[in-house]
Amino acid sequence: MASFDAIDSVAVEPDYCHRCGAAVDAREYEGRTHPWCPDCDVLFSQCPIPGGHVVVRDDDSVLVLDEPIPQHEGVLSLPGGHAKPAERPRESVVRELEEETGLTADPEDLEFLTVVHSEHPDVAFYLLTYAVERSRVDGDLEPEFEDGDAYFAPVAELRANPDRIRDSDLDRIELAFGE
Ligand SMILES: [Zn+2]
Repeated sequence: MASFDAIDSVAVEPDYCHRCGAAVDAREYEGRTHPWCPDCDVLFSQCPIPGGHVVVRDDDSVLVLDEPIPQHEGVLSLPGGHAKPAERPRESVVRELEEETGLTADPEDLEFLTVVHSEHPDVAFYLLTYAVERSRVDGDLEPEFEDGDAYFAPVAELRANPDRIRDSDLDRIELAFGE
């Protein structure tokens, strides 16, 4: 059995060690080849990144973002993001909701909906997802980006335009609407 000094969790497999900057080598561990730093004797193990999102329901519509940022690649998205240290998932979701849309909610009003495993070529995410009714949310919509938008889109319209939204987002919207 292989032994080494430590295993560090990483989101993307590295070319260089984040501890010392050395170019990584490779090492077998539990049947897989992992990046490994020969200087620090640290193995790098790729783990999904946790994130949180909220589906805000208003009758037959759902709150979506149209943000001019590269990772959204021209598709709509749900409000949410990553938790900060010492921040519970539902607290981080409520903070992101306010930053991205201007709407405020009580973290305890969020209903847990599901966790989605969203896989991409270099990285994977676990997306904790909550749902809340518009009537439990306060404030007026104020999108974070001047050239972006945050608005309630009819779910039927999203279903009819699958190129405008990721499957992992539409699936969660369907779940929140009990479809
Ligand atoms: Zn190192």
